[in-house]
Amino acid sequence: MDPCIFCSIIEGDIPSHSIYEDKDTMAFLDVNPISPGHTLVIPKHHCSKLNELPPQDVVSLTKTIHSLIGPIERALGANATTIAFNNGIEAGQEVPHVHCHIIPRFPQDGGRSIHSLLEKPQPPLTKLSTIAESIKNLM
Ligand code: 5GP
Ligand code: ZN
Repeated sequence: MDPCIFCSIIEGDIPSHSIYEDKDTMAFLDVNPISPGHTLVIPKHHCSKLNELPPQDVVSLTKTIHSLIGPIERALGANATTIAFNNGIEAGQEVPHVHCHIIPRFPQDGGRSIHSLLEKPQPPLTKLSTIAESIKNLM
């Protein structure tokens, strides 16, 4: 099986424009940026989806994301960022190693919000209370 491309970046076998690294996480510029400064933040622990990542790695990942937002915004002169995970194939995830996109946003950049991902479902909507209950029952 081919090695995971992001594991290869962690190992230094594939070059990257790294901007941060500690024992649990790494951040580097996306090779095909949506906007200048588009950054990927990854755990060093390989797994595909965020919900499969051990909680201690989620803590490390979140701390790294949090610490990078300000410097990225200041470096690029951005007042805003879109921060997102494509979590699974149906959500558009192409690289099967958890990664957070930090995407600097600019006035009139033509981009939209997360709400533009999908057409709003047509009524009748499943009742919100039923959905909330079914999620709570599985926690
Ligand atoms: P996904 O669709 O899986 O959420 O996004 C994967 C991201 O990884 C894409 O934005 C793509 O440009 C980026 N990417 C894929 N291969 C490489 C690579 O070899 N180096 C870097 N720096 N980014 C990559
Ligand atoms: Zn990997």
